[in-house]
Parts: sequence; C-alpha cells; structure tokens
Amino acid sequence: MAKTNWVGATLEEIEAVLAGMNEPRYRARQIYAGIYRRRLRSWSEFTDLGKQLRERLQEQFAIEYPPLHRAFVSKDGTRRYLFEVGPEQRIEAVFIPEERRDTFCISTQVGCAVGCLFCVTGRLPMRRNLLPGEIVGQVLSLQADRGTVAKRLNIVIMGMGEPLNNYLNVMKAIRLMADDQGMGVSLRRVTLSTSGIVPGIRKLAKEPAIPNLAISLNATKDEVRDRLIPINKKWNIATLLEALRDFPLAQRRRITFEYVLIEDVNDSPEDAHRLVRLLRGLKKKINLIPLNADPWIALKTPSSERVLAFQQILADHHITVNLRRPRGDDISAACGMLAGREQPHGEIKG
Ligand code: SAH
Ligand code: SF4
Repeated sequence: MAKTNWVGATLEEIEAVLAGMNEPRYRARQIYAGIYRRRLRSWSEFTDLGKQLRERLQEQFAIEYPPLHRAFVSKDGTRRYLFEVGPEQRIEAVFIPEERRDTFCISTQVGCAVGCLFCVTGRLPMRRNLLPGEIVGQVLSLQADRGTVAKRLNIVIMGMGEPLNNYLNVMKAIRLMADDQGMGVSLRRVTLSTSGIVPGIRKLAKEPAIPNLAISLNATKDEVRDRLIPINKKWNIATLLEALRDFPLAQRRRITFEYVLIEDVNDSPEDAHRLVRLLRGLKKKINLIPLNADPWIALKTPSSERVLAFQQILADHHITVNLRRPRGDDISAACGMLAGREQPHGEIKG
C-alpha cells in the first residue's frame, strides 16, 4: 500500500490520525513541527518520539518533497530547480539571491490553461493542479538546499501556473507556510500573482489570512489585453479594477501591478499615461518587466530608451515603479520562461 505523504498535511489532519492510533495529542504537534519547522525528512530523525511510534509511522506515512530532477545555476547566482512530479510532468522553482533578501518563486500547476501570448509556460498543455504538499514542498526543498538563516525570505507564487485556478490547494499551502507552529513565514513576505481571475480575487478578499497581491495587468486597453491574456474576454480591465478597489489592504500594504513591456504592443507613452489614469486612487506599485524574449514567442523586447521613457512617465506621476532586470536568463529561469526545459549549461552536478 502506498504511504500517505504528510508534507501538505495540516496539524488537525495529523492530530486526527494520531487520535486514531491512541497517541496523545502533543505527539501530533511534535510531528508537525518536525516536518515543517525542523524540516526533518525521515522518521529516524524524530528522536523525540520513541522508537515504537516511529516504526508505526514509518510503515504508513512518508515525508516526501517533490522529486528533484535537475538543478541549474546562473552566472548571477539564480538557481532553477526542475522537479518531476509525474510522468511528463515537470515543474520549476527558482531561488533568487539578493543583497538583503532571498526570494523563492514557486509553481502551482503543471502547465497553465490561461495561455498568455507572451509566456512560455502558457504554451504548455495544462496537465494538473499541484497538491498543497507539492506547493509547500518546493519551499521546504529550496530551504533545505539553500538555507535562509541570515537573510529574509520572500516567497512569490509566480512560477508555473495560475494560482487562483488552483484556489483550494494554493490557500491550504499558504496557510501552512504562514503557520507559526510550522514554517512560520510571515504573510507580509508572501506574494500571490494572478493574471486576473476576478472570482478568485473576490474570494481571496474574504480569507482570514491574505498574502500580498500582484496583478499581471500587461495592457491598458481591452482590445490589447484580450489578445495577450485570453481571460480578459471574461473579466475585462474595468471588472478587474473594480475587484481590486474592493480588495482589503492591511496598513501600509499595496497592490503590485506587473506590466510586461512588449515592443509596439503596450509600450507607448500613451499606454503609460493611460496606466496612470486607470490605476488612479489605488494603493499600488508597478513592476515593469521588459519582455523576456524566446524563440517560442513571436514578440519583441522594447529598446531600453522606450522602457526608460515609459518608466519616467509613471515616476513623474509619483508612482512607485521598479524596473525588473531579468534574473537567471542564461538558464531559462526568468519570468515567463519556465517550461521544464533541460539545458546543456549551468547544471549543478550532485
Ligand atoms: N500566472 C500568474 C503567475 C505566474 S506568471 C500570473 O500570470 O500572474 C509570472 C509573471 O511573469 C507574470 O506577471 C507574467 O506577466 C510574467 N511573464 C510571463 N511571460 C513573460 C515574459 N515572456 N517576459 C516577462 N515576463 C513574463
Ligand atoms: Fe499562465 Fe501566468 Fe503564464 Fe499567463 S503569464 S500563461 S497566467 S503562467
């Protein structure tokens, strides 16, 4: 019989099983802390449990992270981890070191059904939703590999997949990450990025625990956004912005807008001015991402003059704007480049 994987289980779920085994409740807490806080990976390491219980657990329960297939390191220190979560099912997580913090970028689906015109992930067939354990398992796995003791850790749910199309599993994973008894990641350090699934945004607004929200806006006119992000035909820019105006923001929190700049598609000064007008009144910051070009995508990156001119218009209107430089572009780890691809260079050999 296949063992039940406890990576992804909540404290309550573990408590229920332990109650059935006539074990005291505090044992469940020890197991939960062992898995998520101490990041133990085999029952023999649970020396606080007693040999008999360990053996019983060993028979029925596993502690498994998503199986790592290959890992690549970029010249800039970015690392791309390729996990194989089933036959023909590859997902990726990216580790991005920065001076004052480390960022983990994690996936939520194998492929993505949204199919944005500019995104390599969107070219892949949508295979399945990731389970909560596969989502938090990416974080645990990267922490085990990199450690994050000295630095602050940010988690961005911006890898493969549309997180709000896998709502329940993603929310369960977020609750596990945020739990003080376990992984203990502050929700202020977790950001969920969506292409604009409006019912999902409205549902998220009512959750007791809400991460930071990032919206991949990427256009200022519906006719352009319809073409870039097909779900815009269902939930257009006005509908999306209405949901965002209703979204509760904790003190000093802002919504992040991602705007991928594509030559002659959405990069004109008129677009910049329209963006200023559209977002007026929202607490926000804007991340400009010059398109990461790829042979799979028939679109171009604007010149740096054009990008800087766009940025300047936003800055002139006192909008906080960051220009995103591609990280890990030599190993296909940059935004929108995650496709489970193998690569001849940059591989980390065990
Ligand atoms: N599905 C979610 C999260 C994953 S995509 C979403 O769309 O928000 C993460 C970010 O990468 C999005 O902001 C998306 O607009 C951006 N992106 C996709 N393809 C890109 C590309 N080719 N170049 C630059 N950014 C890209
Ligand atoms: Fe999916 Fe996001 Fe890529 Fe669009 S940009 S195809 S929503 S992963």
